[in-house]
Amino acid sequence: MKPHTAQADITRSAILAHVSTRHGCSRAQLARELRVSPALITQYTRDLIADGLLVPLAHEASRGGRPAQLLGSATTTGDAIGCKVAADHITMVQVRVDGMITRADTLAFEATAGAAVQHLGAALHAFIEQTPTGRLLGVGVGVPGDVDEQTVGTVDSTQLGWRGLPLGDSLRRKLGLPVIVENNVTALTIAEALYGPGLGHDNLLVVTIGTGVGAGIMSNGNLLRGRSGGAGEIGHLPIQENGPLCQCGGHGCLEAVLGERALTQQARETGLIRSDASIDAVRDLADQGDPAAQQIFIDAGHTFGRAMAGAVNLLDPEVLILLGEGMLGWRHWIPGFEPAFRSALIPRNRAIPVVAETLQDERWAQGAASLVLSTPFDTQEHSGEQGRLIRQRFLKP
Ligand SMILES: [Zn+2]
Repeated sequence: MKPHTAQADITRSAILAHVSTRHGCSRAQLARELRVSPALITQYTRDLIADGLLVPLAHEASRGGRPAQLLGSATTTGDAIGCKVAADHITMVQVRVDGMITRADTLAFEATAGAAVQHLGAALHAFIEQTPTGRLLGVGVGVPGDVDEQTVGTVDSTQLGWRGLPLGDSLRRKLGLPVIVENNVTALTIAEALYGPGLGHDNLLVVTIGTGVGAGIMSNGNLLRGRSGGAGEIGHLPIQENGPLCQCGGHGCLEAVLGERALTQQARETGLIRSDASIDAVRDLADQGDPAAQQIFIDAGHTFGRAMAGAVNLLDPEVLILLGEGMLGWRHWIPGFEPAFRSALIPRNRAIPVVAETLQDERWAQGAASLVLSTPFDTQEHSGEQGRLIRQRFLKP
C-alpha cells in the first residue's frame, strides 16, 4: 500500500465520486472539472485502476482528433445516510453517491424530550440496520441551529431547545460510523452545489424561507461558515425599527417580518383567517384570488426582494437559489419580489438568475447526506477527522 498525503486522498476520492456521479468521465474532463493538473489525473487514475476502483470504459465519440477514453467506477462507491432533524419529526434517507435517494423514512420526534438524542440514535441505528448489504460511507445530520465544527458536532439550536449538545459525539458512539453534523441550510447548499442548480457554479447564495429564513453561502467554491459556524443568519437582518419580536430576542428581523408565523399572524389580525388557521389557509385564499391574502404575499415579496438585493450586492453570487416550505406560495410573492429585487440591485448584478425550488423533508435529508458525499471535494477540510475516515472508506478496495 502506497502512503498517501491528505491532499492526495482528497483528490483520489474526488475523482471516484466525480466519475460515479457522471456515469463515465474522460481524464480531460476530470482535470478541467476538478481543477487538477492533467499529469496528476493521469497518475491518480492509473493508481485507482490498479486498485480496482476505476475501470476503463468505451471510447467517447469525438469529432476529429483522438477519441477520449471514458472511465467508470468499478463498484458502487458506497452510500450515505442523511438525517434532517426538526423540532417534531426526523426524516432519514439513504443516498447513492450520484445523489439518488434510494430509501426514506419519517418519524415523529420530540426534540425537547430528555432522551431526545438517545431516541435519534436509536432511530438512525434501526434505519441503518435495514440497509441492504453494501458499503455505508457515513452519516450526515442537518440541524436548524449553529454547529461548532462539522467533525465535532456540538449543537446550539433555539428551534430544538438544545444548548451545547454534543450530538456528533453521541451518535458516533452509538452508530460506529463517521458522523458529520452541520447547520441544515449549509448542508442544503452543499447539495445544491453537487446535484442542484448550483452545479458548475463557484458562487452561490441559497436562501430558505419557511418558519425561519436562513442562508447558505458558497464563495469561490468555498463554503462560508464564519468564526463559529454561524454565517448565513440572513433571517436576522434588521428590517423594521420596533417591528415584531423575533425568536432571537430582537425586533423587526427579516424572519419576524415575513416568516410563516408573521404572515399567518397578519392574516389572523385582519380577520382573513380563523385564529387557529395556518399559513396554508392564507395561501389557499390567495390561490382563489382573494386580494387581501395576495397583498400579504406581495408585501412580503417586496421586503424580501430588497433584502435579497442587499445580500446579492454584498456577496456577488452567480445565482440566487430560493428554497423551503415558503416556496409553496412563491408565485404570490413574485409580483412584490421581482420589481423590488431588480431595482435595488447594483447594475452589474441586475441580470442575476433566481431559481425557486419547492423542497420537502427528503430533500433536506438529502442535503444532510451530501455532507458525507461531498467530503471527497472538501479541499478546505471542514469535515476534519470524520471526513478523513469517510474518504478512507471511499478508497478501500
Ligand atoms: Zn432575529
